[in-house]
Amino acid sequence: MNNLKEYPNEKIVKLIKKGEVTVADIIDSGICPTCFDKENDNVLYGDNTDKIIYEDDLVECFLVGNPRAKGHTAISTKKHFKDMMEIDDKTCQVIFVMAKKLMNIIKEVYHCESVYLCTMCDGPMNHFHIQLIPRYSYEKRGSKNFVKPRMEYIEDKEKIKALRELMK
Ligand SMILES: [Zn+2]
Repeated sequence: MNNLKEYPNEKIVKLIKKGEVTVADIIDSGICPTCFDKENDNVLYGDNTDKIIYEDDLVECFLVGNPRAKGHTAISTKKHFKDMMEIDDKTCQVIFVMAKKLMNIIKEVYHCESVYLCTMCDGPMNHFHIQLIPRYSYEKRGSKNFVKPRMEYIEDKEKIKALRELMK
């Protein structure tokens, strides 16, 4: 997969659809998975319109499709940045103030005890995003909450509606 970057997009899309190329392969090839997904009909992550809880010109906040907890949310920039070290100060300020607001909203809507924040856009290429992971009262405190097993995403229309209302 080393020369994936030299392939035309259509060929990569076909390989993804056949299950022969994964997100990790895309990252390892130096291609941004998020930008590639957006430019190619959401072939990697699927359409997430129903999971978006807020968006503007700068950012997109959405429920994660393979969550580590109910209410696991990500905030991603619309513009491409490889990781947090590359974002400008203004974007950094906006996104972290927004994260603070969203963490409080997640706590209120999901009745969790705390919300953890992490960002770790690693590899030769990635797309800056931060993750907000709820920690519930029945779960122990600590860093293990960052690597809780992924679970099936179950749509909760009422909670999505509440999140959208509060993020307005
Ligand atoms: Zn990107």
